[in-house]
Amino acid sequence: MIALKGRSVYGGIARGVISFYQRDRISISRRKINDPEKEWDRYLEAKDAAVAELEALREQTAEKIGSADADIFYIQQLILNDSQFVRGVKEYIFDEKCNADYAVARTSQRLAEIMRQGDSDYIRERFTDVYDGSERIIRQLQNQSSSEFKLDEISIICAEDLLPSETATLDKSKVAAFCTRGGSTNSHTAILARTMNIPALIGLGDVKLEEYDGRYAIVDGYDGVIYIEPDNETTIRIKRREEEEGRKHELLQKLKGRRNVTRDGREIEVYANIGGLGDLESAIENDAGGIGLLRSEFLYLQRDSFPDEEELFYNYRRVVEDMKGKRVVIRTLDIGADKTADYFDLDKEENPALGMRAVRLCLRRQDIFRTQLRALLRASAYGKLSILIPMIIDVDEVYRVKDIIHKVKDELISKHIAFGEDVELGVMIETPAAVMISDLLAKEVDFFSIGTNDLEQYTLAIDRQNPNYENVVPPNHLAVLRMIKLVVENAHSHGIKVCLCGELGADLSLTEILMEMQLDALSVAPPQVLPVRRMIRSLNLSDRRQVHSNIQRVLHY
Ligand code: PEP
Ligand code: MG
Repeated sequence: MIALKGRSVYGGIARGVISFYQRDRISISRRKINDPEKEWDRYLEAKDAAVAELEALREQTAEKIGSADADIFYIQQLILNDSQFVRGVKEYIFDEKCNADYAVARTSQRLAEIMRQGDSDYIRERFTDVYDGSERIIRQLQNQSSSEFKLDEISIICAEDLLPSETATLDKSKVAAFCTRGGSTNSHTAILARTMNIPALIGLGDVKLEEYDGRYAIVDGYDGVIYIEPDNETTIRIKRREEEEGRKHELLQKLKGRRNVTRDGREIEVYANIGGLGDLESAIENDAGGIGLLRSEFLYLQRDSFPDEEELFYNYRRVVEDMKGKRVVIRTLDIGADKTADYFDLDKEENPALGMRAVRLCLRRQDIFRTQLRALLRASAYGKLSILIPMIIDVDEVYRVKDIIHKVKDELISKHIAFGEDVELGVMIETPAAVMISDLLAKEVDFFSIGTNDLEQYTLAIDRQNPNYENVVPPNHLAVLRMIKLVVENAHSHGIKVCLCGELGADLSLTEILMEMQLDALSVAPPQVLPVRRMIRSLNLSDRRQVHSNIQRVLHY
């Protein structure tokens, strides 16, 4: 038996025969051309054909697997039509008199290099989309068809990493798991595994996976190990683990469609936090009551220039439509601090978490804010959308935001563009300042969302990014719990609702106290939705013996 350790990006157990995927290389050589105009036309024709192929793949994938994976092909279409990309190819063809396939290959290499050095993991991982998309144009230019990876039996796909177009052509019914040498949590393979609900290991490192092609293996997605030709003892141990996990999973599934109500009848909403379309399937699959927080900045982090209104609108509309009338809370840009993108051109600051971020930036750079608000309002015509403003510290900021929203609405009305009539406006309560003026803020907005990740950071003066401080202060500090209590009281006395969307909401040891504090909703990562719901349903708030001692401290001191 050989055991290889990787990093699991999705749990589960899978068995199958290892099938190593080797990408066939296309060869490109540089040639001098005499007629750049003709070469340029050849390129445009190939590009259009490649974009059309991608559109067909997008539709096919949306139907077969789901819209989250299909979006990868939409991103590739955007890359191929990107003006910087097209300009790069043009320069090679006209200035250097190069053949079109060479021009495409060189341009994609340059763009991929820039992306590889991007600030966020997401951007770094998108370089494969650049290669994947441009390879499609090159194949068109060379009249080659894309390679297809055929599977005869249930297989564990091993590879360096897989391109989205390669995963799209796979026969999903025969794929048991993915194992890759490279990859990362946000890589396509990881995203696809989560959507397909199968285990995936990444970062297996420098092992010669191809040597194990055709051998039987078991992937343990809980511990992140692939066992090649496992021995008896391992097989039995894994079987037991699988049965145990299966029982847990089944129990959780039974909660779908059920109310989130305690044994003594207290009800609470449980929503999902998502970063974008990629997480939507998981929110739906886990039966989230809605989207409690869409961190809209992720869409801005995935790229190297501002998304335009149409792209934002497409994304927001998809979320509200796919949630089919359930509530969707989209937070406006929270760029700054730990989430930055070069093209925002932010000044370097000594303490960025205390600097130009979130609503401060939006009020300073109103062009960016207005574009986002226009897209949000337009999308509100297609479902139940609420707008949430991050990092509020002052009522005046709310007045200014409302004023801008008002003007954007007027603009839309004058152009006869539809938007929802009942779009609610909420603020994040994630600074001690917002807590202390929550009575005043409650008069101005429709709801609160408590962001305990930042609230803990700013209250306890502990950098949330620095792992060295994780154990310095006991988690769930009394100061933060009391703040939550105060915010709920202020909100309720003004007739508005409060959701808690920080990580603290998924801490099952706190579910009881949070409910006792009368929160109206919790919003947690999609895989946490069902475990939180199970905890809620097990509680009996009227049974004093069950009441956590913290409740006494927080509520009755
Ligand atoms: C928070 O601060 O708790 C929150 C939900 O927002 P983020 O983690 O995106 O800052
Ligand atoms: Mg925050």
